[in-house]
Amino acid sequence: MSLHEVKHQARAQQVIQRALLGERLPHAYIFHGPAGVGKEMLARGLAQLLLCGTPEEVSLDGTEAAAVGIETLRVGCGSCEDCLTAAAGTHPDLHVVHRYLYRDHPDADVRKRKGLDISVDVLRHFVIEKVGRKAMGGRAKVFIIREADRITVQAQNALLKTLEEPPGATFLILLATNAERLLETTRSRCQMVPFDALPGAFVAERLADLVPELSADTRAWYAQLSQGRLGEALAYLEDDLRSVNERLTATLQGASLAEGETAAGAAGWLEMAKALGQGYKERDPDITETEATRRGLGTLLHLAANWYGDVLRAQMAPALALSNALQADAIAAAANRVDAHQAGAAIRRLAETQRHLEANANPQLCIESLLHALSPV
Ligand SMILES: [Zn+2]
Repeated sequence: MSLHEVKHQARAQQVIQRALLGERLPHAYIFHGPAGVGKEMLARGLAQLLLCGTPEEVSLDGTEAAAVGIETLRVGCGSCEDCLTAAAGTHPDLHVVHRYLYRDHPDADVRKRKGLDISVDVLRHFVIEKVGRKAMGGRAKVFIIREADRITVQAQNALLKTLEEPPGATFLILLATNAERLLETTRSRCQMVPFDALPGAFVAERLADLVPELSADTRAWYAQLSQGRLGEALAYLEDDLRSVNERLTATLQGASLAEGETAAGAAGWLEMAKALGQGYKERDPDITETEATRRGLGTLLHLAANWYGDVLRAQMAPALALSNALQADAIAAAANRVDAHQAGAAIRRLAETQRHLEANANPQLCIESLLHALSPV
């Protein structure tokens, strides 16, 4: 995974390339921005470059150079032993740290816990102690910490000294979707590297490469739903959100939202959320049943907001192509049934419901009250 394979992250590329040209290369970075847009790809590219003994410069073509604002990128050669093992994830000086490492911790008590955050024990054993040892290859040591915004406060405090002055050629790259959750003392010791959502057309294009059997309409729908996050689009696809969306939007249309049917409607939503939660739990086995269902409901709210967004677009700009060409007739019908004010209010209500769920409100009651508010629609 080389640095120049990461696309549409001009700001991040600029910060990194400028740092590489500078007198003193920062040793600690926070790559922050939406999930699934290439943070880990760029981190691995940077790791490869730092470990490579024969780095190169690649010239960007005209369009890309204009977009990134740089003509050449410094990258790992991609063919030496260091580059190959770094790319394969087997380089002894490249350490990828994540919250599931508690399972490999030498202390049995730590192994009994759940990996919902990155604890001080995990950080001490897998980062701080390893930082103190000599690099195997001698050139550099690179730590990539996934979901760094889940490092506990205690663990962040334990890491401060390492971030401030890591010994020798040691580099730490913290990946975070919510950098503001990190302590100010952590942030101020790191070079901040911002990442942006990807262009929708690029996400659709990558989906076409990765999943060629998808129709153009389906690709466009997933690309729009992902809001420029390719990794999320692929996860949505794995969860078959297209079918979930068909079922969900059927509940938003017409009769099923009549007065007195909100309890049954909410039960239907919870059932869909639980089914989605099963998939989330398979991918992230340490989360509780309740948390998995809550995330499932979050996805349903996102789908519903996307639906009302389409209804709103159909009203405001009927000439524009819909992202959701597959449900064009249903959206046109909904656009006749509700006005722009109602569609906008529905979107706000969905966001509010999401906030209530995050504050641990009762899911059944939350959705009932949502469906009640939506029912005049
Ligand atoms: Zn190399």
